[in-house]
Amino acid sequence: GQSRIGVTGLAVMGANLARNIASRGVAVAVHNRTGSKTTEFMSEFGGEGDFTGTQSLQEFVDALETPRRIIVMVKAGKPVDSVIDELTPLLDKGDIIIDAGNSHFPDTVRRTAECEANGIRFMGVGVSGGEEGALLGPSIMPGGDPEAYAEVKDIFESIAAVVDGTPCVVHVGPGGAGHYVKMVHNGIEYADMQLIVEAYDLLTQVAGLDAHAIGTIFEEWNTGDLESFLIEITGKVLAKVDEKTGGPLVDVIVDQAGQKGTGTWTAIDALGLGIPLTGITEAVFARGLSALRAERAAAAKTLAGPTPAKKADESLVDDIRQALYASKVVAYAQGFAQMRAASVQNGWDLHLGEMATIWRGGCIIRAQFLNRIRDAYAEHPDLDNLLMVPYFTEAVANAQDAWRRVVVTATEQGVAIPAFSSSLSYYDGYRRERGPANLIQGLRDFFGAHTYQRVDEEGAFHTRWAQDGTEVRTD
Ligand code: NDP
Repeated sequence: GQSRIGVTGLAVMGANLARNIASRGVAVAVHNRTGSKTTEFMSEFGGEGDFTGTQSLQEFVDALETPRRIIVMVKAGKPVDSVIDELTPLLDKGDIIIDAGNSHFPDTVRRTAECEANGIRFMGVGVSGGEEGALLGPSIMPGGDPEAYAEVKDIFESIAAVVDGTPCVVHVGPGGAGHYVKMVHNGIEYADMQLIVEAYDLLTQVAGLDAHAIGTIFEEWNTGDLESFLIEITGKVLAKVDEKTGGPLVDVIVDQAGQKGTGTWTAIDALGLGIPLTGITEAVFARGLSALRAERAAAAKTLAGPTPAKKADESLVDDIRQALYASKVVAYAQGFAQMRAASVQNGWDLHLGEMATIWRGGCIIRAQFLNRIRDAYAEHPDLDNLLMVPYFTEAVANAQDAWRRVVVTATEQGVAIPAFSSSLSYYDGYRRERGPANLIQGLRDFFGAHTYQRVDEEGAFHTRWAQDGTEVRTD
């Protein structure tokens, strides 16, 4: 075989990744289950680089130098298993299968073990940036055997986005670590978007601004601390004029959000780890609520509440900016705390500063802000919570008066702000040395003899609530 690497699965992502690799002067063999797609790919893009179009998997495998490096870019789920099953008998020991789709990390853990049992090295690689990223430079989160990664490192580094001379790719960790980090990336993307739409909602409902005016505000916000791809495109989406009505396009888009499941995976995983992940989880719930469109239409006629003021309020606009920033800090603090907990639980040894580094470019959550997170972990690699580094401590301290005003105003005026308000509650809960869970323990001991600890004495205790009311040691 002549090609250094192969790509099977030539839908948008696979085709663009293959073109990106070939554009770096690397010979690429391409394959797709439906052969006509390969033929189309070759006639459209074959001239761009050193491609070998193949019709069967045998032909594909034969076109590759050994150890074979095969990127699988097919629909996530069962199709990935089918492709692995079909490839396995055709491969030799030491060949590498790289699943670059949005696989759920437990599947990646399983596939890694299954492939290993057959002498095949498996990598689960998160790729972010959509079609355009895949073609021009994505953020890449490779997980799996580090020796296998060494075989493709130069290719990945050459195709990734670059920020300040640093490619947005690093070996994340073994097994499912790459897909895990990609999952949390997507979860954070949910939180970022939810915070943006809560700001948009308040600016519309409470400040009475139209989409065009709000678009201008986002454009402005994109020149400060909030500078990021999502804030930038929010300005553009809000500015877009609908060709049919001549009004803002957003005003005619149905208020029902879609989702493909990665936010839900992130939230479920956080529940399992026992890590508070309010920002991302509320964002998932908010999409769920948005989907209950018919129910909301009925409830709007039935359920009472204040009618928002829709009154121009200059100071509110800046308060909302600060609430958005503080809530964003919390959402990232939570997402990074989750990755840290998962790293400890799975023995992945994730370097969280590197995650911030490779998310600075190529991906949907790319932002200036990530430089601050990178710096935080550079100084404190074992940081428990991002809120505890001076930069973020101060940022939230400075924003919190505005943040509280926004939560109060939204609550008084009846505007739902689940991510803003739950982030503030998390913040207030996190900064309490002594919270109210003492009472939970008392209740649990009352109805279930679950025991409690005392602040003044070591050991486990139970009160005989239903008998004589005396306390006994149970350890
Ligand atoms: P799709 O997810 O739409 O998958 C289509 C591809 O999968 C086609 O090549 C199709 O082949 C192949 N396929 C489906 N079932 C099978 C099967 N049983 N056996 C073999 N091949 C099969 O393509 P995308 O390019 O959108 O995405 C690819 C992966 O990248 C997914 O995991 C996706 O989640 C992920 N991703 C996508 C992003 C995006 O913006 N679209 C961004 C980041 C990641 P055929 O032509 O024969 O039907």
